[in-house]
Amino acid sequence: MSKAIQAVRGMNDCLPSETNIWQMVEATLRRVASNYGFAEIRMPIVESTHLFKRSIGEVTDIVEKEMYTFDDRNGDSLTLRPEGTASCVRAGNQHGLLYNQEQRLWYMGPMFRHERPQKGRYRQFHQFGIEAFGIASADIDAEVIMLSNRLWKELGIKDVVTLELNTLGSNEERATYRDALVEYLTKHEDKLDEDSKRRMHTNPLRVLDSKNPDVQAALTDAPKLSEFLGEESKQHFDTLLARLDAAGIEYVINERLVRGLDYYNRTVFEWVTDSLGAQGTVCAGGRYDGLVEQLGGKATPGFGFALGIERLVLLLTSLDKVKNVRPQADVYIAMMGEEAELVGNALAEQWRDEVKEIRIQCHCGGGKFNKQMKRADKSGASVAIILGDNEIAEKTATVKYLREQKDQESVAFDQIPALLEKLM
Ligand code: ATP
Ligand code: MG
Repeated sequence: MSKAIQAVRGMNDCLPSETNIWQMVEATLRRVASNYGFAEIRMPIVESTHLFKRSIGEVTDIVEKEMYTFDDRNGDSLTLRPEGTASCVRAGNQHGLLYNQEQRLWYMGPMFRHERPQKGRYRQFHQFGIEAFGIASADIDAEVIMLSNRLWKELGIKDVVTLELNTLGSNEERATYRDALVEYLTKHEDKLDEDSKRRMHTNPLRVLDSKNPDVQAALTDAPKLSEFLGEESKQHFDTLLARLDAAGIEYVINERLVRGLDYYNRTVFEWVTDSLGAQGTVCAGGRYDGLVEQLGGKATPGFGFALGIERLVLLLTSLDKVKNVRPQADVYIAMMGEEAELVGNALAEQWRDEVKEIRIQCHCGGGKFNKQMKRADKSGASVAIILGDNEIAEKTATVKYLREQKDQESVAFDQIPALLEKLM
């Protein structure tokens, strides 16, 4: 045998034993998004490289070292999307969805980043994202955060996630702050690690969320962004907090929360958990009022977030929240004898016509009764319908209960749909 081919490192298969929980999570995400009047948008997985360079920012981790970029056969530089917001804005501009309009959109799908694979961090991963366009006031910030809060409630993980909030102010306020921060960091350069020294020149705000405790200690007396905020930015943040308070949503203000993408202004937030080790951020987002214009559209405010579905699935699994995992089939049809084999599938077709949601596996491949019953057991079905030549002649099936102590019984064909209804 030749050597079996393996999947690309960091790109996972989602096996049948796991797709159940994925489908449950995806269904909840879709339902909650529509509960808030958001519509789905689907964008391509591949975009022009400059879309991400221009939106996410040249000196961010994503653009500097995480993108899957390659030349198309005709020499165009393309990139597997590392996130969804840039594509969503591109699509909105291209199709005139954002021009003088409000849009409330969601998307879901695979994203690609060349990172070191570890628990909760993969090279192909999946995000669900929300984007609201055309609303500058903080009420939409609150509404979108409430939507995220409802996701945790619906998924049963509300107890293990915490909302962290910060405001980055306007571009001008942030630029002034940036100068003050660089001045401070320059004075304390000897206490910074290599990464922070480099960032001090390229993206100094990122030094604030360094994971290195020594760097964090060196930041104790650093100037705070909140001291540089103007009246409007403060007002925006206060309005958001008041709305969250009114809705009973708890939060922690984390002045060092800055996010790794350049396009954010004003509100930024993360939902974090202690239950996932180092990869503790489940969901992250904020306001990006400059992005639509930056990508060639008319200036239009935006607010959104993205959550990592793998991290959600890990969290649900680790907390043992995965209940009611349905087996693959409700009913298994065994067929013994020529006549039964001839008409068995046709009978199953009739029953599928009548009971739309029923999941019926028909035995295929022949074989003895015992073999067919083993397959029936493995299918997870709760009932086996046994068809033999006698049964066909009498238009009755033998129904055998596979998961409960109950005698088998004879059921007339025309009574089978009623029996199937009860199984679901
Ligand atoms: P991190 O700090 O963990 O690298 P990030 O700031 O790069 O996250 P975002 O770009 O804001 O993450 O993406 C939003 C969410 O997508 C994250 O909170 C996380 O749940 C998920 N996510 C990001 N990168 C990965 C990855 N490589 N593998 C799995 N999930 C990811
Ligand atoms: Mg990252």
